Amino acid sequence: MRPGAIWERVRRRLRAEFGEDVFNSWFKSIEIDQAAGEMVRLSVPTRFLKSWIENHYKDRILTRWREEAGQDVHIDVIVRTAVSARPSVRPKPAVEPARSPMPAAPNRSFDNAPLIQGHGEALGGSPLDPRLTFETFVQGRSNTLARAAALQVAQSRSSDAVLFNPLYIHAGVGLGKTHLLQAISGTAQAAGRRILYLTAEKFTFGFVASLKNQTAMAFKEALRNIDLLIIDDLQFLQGKQTQAEFCHTLNALIDAGRQVVVAGDRPPSDLENLDERVRSRLAGGLTVEIGPLDENLRLDILKQKLTHAKVQHQGFDVPLAVLGYVAKNVTQNGRDLDGAFNRLLATNRLTAQPVTIEMAERSIRDLVRVAEPKRIKIEEIQKIVAQHYNVSRSDILSSRRTATVVRPRQIAMYLAKTLTLRSLPEIGRRFGGRDHTTVLHAVRKIEGLVGQDPALNEEVEVLKRRLND
Ligand code: ADP
Ligand code: MG
Repeated sequence: MRPGAIWERVRRRLRAEFGEDVFNSWFKSIEIDQAAGEMVRLSVPTRFLKSWIENHYKDRILTRWREEAGQDVHIDVIVRTAVSARPSVRPKPAVEPARSPMPAAPNRSFDNAPLIQGHGEALGGSPLDPRLTFETFVQGRSNTLARAAALQVAQSRSSDAVLFNPLYIHAGVGLGKTHLLQAISGTAQAAGRRILYLTAEKFTFGFVASLKNQTAMAFKEALRNIDLLIIDDLQFLQGKQTQAEFCHTLNALIDAGRQVVVAGDRPPSDLENLDERVRSRLAGGLTVEIGPLDENLRLDILKQKLTHAKVQHQGFDVPLAVLGYVAKNVTQNGRDLDGAFNRLLATNRLTAQPVTIEMAERSIRDLVRVAEPKRIKIEEIQKIVAQHYNVSRSDILSSRRTATVVRPRQIAMYLAKTLTLRSLPEIGRRFGGRDHTTVLHAVRKIEGLVGQDPALNEEVEVLKRRLND
């Protein structure tokens, strides 16, 4: 077998073993540099990635290679030079540089477009979805400002003065935050800027991992060497030390005139678990909100989806009346809109039924008229439950274990879990710093009781109604 074919099989197995995310973070950018006899040399775009792979994954790669090749080999990992990295992306130099047998130091690596991506990968940069662009982002009343700010950031050049920094975009689920952030990333990257798009979870993971492996310096250094840092889902930034590091990064980048863009599910002032310094730094830039998608915008988004779908699926069409029906009846959340549209497409493709209102009614029944749930705050739940049971909110947060307090506390935790999107650990923290297992216990307990005790069930329903009003 050719080394290329062996490597392809090894890659496939690594992908299956570690999953898409890990694969994309660490293995995707590995290329074969040379393979002859028992010697295999793999190349990666950055030093950070090289040391990471050597420390964590080299043995696994070696084992898989031996299995696939049926032969013992020796594997080396080198940092590929700017010149040898994916030459097809850039114009060919007039004279092919001779390949040196020894790894050359990455020269001017940050000035070379092909390395930008690798740079992100070294930090576990999250992958970009090529469909999420400004062209596919439909403008409406609720997102005009956010879109304009995003566009401004995406199109400014590294040498331009930064207008607002950081740019903070917040909105509920499915309203287009990730879409806009990825549109910025794609545009800026295409213009040759050094970007890093990361979810806050990945940032946390990358930082914690680099601490464990004593590569924290490399992590920090790499982070501060970018033009544009884009962080998604900031509400998931976890841990004191990570937040402190994020704060340093934020300060260092902003002070150096580099652009930072952040998205979260609520305004900075409501990010209760976030370090005060980060919160105020975020609030010091431009904060814009994306509102719910109104019916017109929903219709425009659906029309746009149809235009794209028609190109890919011959003979597929949706009458305007059906688009109107979907826009009217499916909630303000872009994900439900995606879901509804995909059902129409799937039903049509799989059963060859034409898309009609009746067909649409049937296929999207469960997505229809689920009113967008109001965003309920945990404090509000605690307040209403406390009032209802005639205890104080501080009783609920306290460690008192008397029955008069324990049950209301459990009900409040149960409501927090079912009516908000907060995680168990977060709910625990917001209930006087309890452990997530305590919250889980409370949720299970009340779930069980509600099923057996009609009176309690009714009480919980009353509380839900009051909270939803
Ligand atoms: P969020 O990150 O805010 O939860 P996403 O960006 O993931 O939301 O959006 C959810 C879905 O809705 C995506 O498929 C996205 O493309 C789509 N969407 C949201 N707003 C728009 C818009 N203005 N134009 C086109 N698609 C949109
Ligand atoms: Mg998102």
